[in-house]
Amino acid sequence: MLECVRMQVSNVNLPHARMAFGVGLLCVLCSVGAFDQGRVKAQVAKPFALVGGMLIDGTGAPPVRDSVILIRGDRIERVGTVTSLPVPSEYEPISTEGMTVLPGLWDLHVHLIYSGHPNPGAWFRHAADFERVTIPASARQMLMAGVTSVRDLAAPADAIFAVKKRIASGELPGPTLYAAGPALAKMAPDQPAPTSQFLPILDAADARAKTRRLLDAGADNIKIFFAERMSAEERSAIITEAHARGRKVAAHGQTDNEVRLGLAIGVDDFQHIGIDSAEYPPDIVASLRQRVKTGPPVYWTPTVGANNLLNSAYTASKPEILDDPEAYLGLPGPLVAEVKQGWDAYQPRQPRADTEAIVKRKIAQLQDAGVVLVFGSDEGSAGELARHATWMDADLWVRVLGMDPMMVLRRMTLDAARAMGADPDSGAIVSGKYADIIAVGGDPLRHINVLRDPKLVIKHGRRYK
Ligand SMILES: [Zn+2]
Repeated sequence: MLECVRMQVSNVNLPHARMAFGVGLLCVLCSVGAFDQGRVKAQVAKPFALVGGMLIDGTGAPPVRDSVILIRGDRIERVGTVTSLPVPSEYEPISTEGMTVLPGLWDLHVHLIYSGHPNPGAWFRHAADFERVTIPASARQMLMAGVTSVRDLAAPADAIFAVKKRIASGELPGPTLYAAGPALAKMAPDQPAPTSQFLPILDAADARAKTRRLLDAGADNIKIFFAERMSAEERSAIITEAHARGRKVAAHGQTDNEVRLGLAIGVDDFQHIGIDSAEYPPDIVASLRQRVKTGPPVYWTPTVGANNLLNSAYTASKPEILDDPEAYLGLPGPLVAEVKQGWDAYQPRQPRADTEAIVKRKIAQLQDAGVVLVFGSDEGSAGELARHATWMDADLWVRVLGMDPMMVLRRMTLDAARAMGADPDSGAIVSGKYADIIAVGGDPLRHINVLRDPKLVIKHGRRYK
């Protein structure tokens, strides 16, 4: 499946991508910003073994002490322990003693075009730099933070599909990138022309044609935005076309009505948790239960840190982490200065006092109904820095939502891979799958924040850290 996706993408003819590339060359920031993307060189893969650490394999199985993982090429060859699996002499041993070894993390809701600016809307004046500067910088930061797979859910098609190809070919360091391209959106009649993370649709025929165009260009899934403004025909044209091509559809589930509309047409994966109601009303709960019973599974990426939810007070305090130089790696000075000025001027909305209670209640309702929660941070939105969004949201799941850390890790690995149909090849440390592996100091089952600083990052058998 993965191979087939990759071949499709590499064979795509993208005239728009070349046009954007040409524009990018003229841009002053690009020539400065692309400077050090190539410096993170993956080490050449020869057979090696990770020896001694505690293994959490991503399936939810109990941890295994003194683990041994043999890696050959881009795959995990065998998994055992120091007693059951002696390391053959041709394998280079790498000690993971004192560490926890786990699958590379997944983040199913990212926006790689942004660079930490608290006002994403203002960022589109740098659109000519997305392909050469900001997307590669965010991708590299996420990989070095231990995130080996991401799904980008709204970006200009030419830029995001071009970077996806360059990451897949090994030219750029970054997570395996699943990309929707621009979100299909119905604009309000009086709305100005949308920025390039949206692809506006006019009617059902146009919706069908644009869904096809995105899939032809290499979209791994389709994202719907402003579904409430679409007609029933437009919504079902999109989903029918995507499903006919074996691609899933993600839609916003921020309001109760968006959830109703999405369930009515068979959306695969809802994004965000809304606080427009104190809890999901009985009709939505009943529809969710019915859908879970009949299938296909409903996935939900709640992005609990973003959108003025559980991180809002912390973000409003303008924490020191906003000054972390690692959060600006790969960006030229003028862009960094602009992001920091953005934070100086940032005036957050006052969060509602009942936000945390509503998020907890709705998460409990979703779990109770059998919805599969998967992990996504909304990286790129205010306070969700590429370098830090993933571990910080994992911390919220454990510390604020009270979830079992083992379950959170599964949501961040195997369940996320499953949501993308990638689980035959990825998401767990099991022989035969891609060697997407990280090792962290200490025990994330005890202190989830150890995810912040991975000691080892391996993607497809290449060691990046
Ligand atoms: Zn988002």
